[in-house]
Order: sequence, then C-alpha cells, then structure tokens
Amino acid sequence: MCECGSSRTPGAGPFASGRELVEFVLNAHGGSVARSALPGALEHICQGCGTPFTLERFVQSCPACGGVHAVSPPRATDPAAIQFAGADFIASPAEFMGDYWLG
Ligand SMILES: [Zn+2]
Repeated sequence: MCECGSSRTPGAGPFASGRELVEFVLNAHGGSVARSALPGALEHICQGCGTPFTLERFVQSCPACGGVHAVSPPRATDPAAIQFAGADFIASPAEFMGDYWLG
C-alpha cells in the first residue's frame, strides 16, 4: 500500500520536516521515489549555502555544496515544502545516496 499520501504518525512520513523527510523519501518504495523526476522542476535556494538550483527529482543535492534536499510526493508541486537534510548529512553523499546519484 502506498503511504505517500497519508501519515500514520503526525510529524512523520511525507509531512515530516528536515532530515526526517529526506530519509522518508529516500526509503519510500525502495528508493524508486527518490530517483523519480518531479512532475515539474522546482526552483529552490539551497538551504545550506544559498545557491539557487533547480530541483528535478524528489531527492537531489545542491550542485554547489552537495546539501541533500527532498520533497515528498504529496507536496511535489510546492517549493516551500522542500526540506534540507542538514549540513552534516552531506559529509558522505555517496554513502547515503549510493546509486541514487548515479542512476
Ligand atoms: Zn548548497
């Protein structure tokens, strides 16, 4: 059953914030969601370094600092819903993201 549009726990799942949301999207549907393209690209200002970039997938890193940002499927069209995993999440993007970046 798809849990993208519902949350059993307030403050968790697709309506969590920050790193919790990023990790939720990374794990959703075995990672297939994170690799998927958004319905429409979202213009965003990196919440880590302030560099403008275009979010084209549900999980994507800032091209300047590598900071990982994500948006959940129910809010995929809302730039204000983009969450930032936090500066320390970027230390080992390959470790966290693995094939996400390569795919
Ligand atoms: Zn950045």
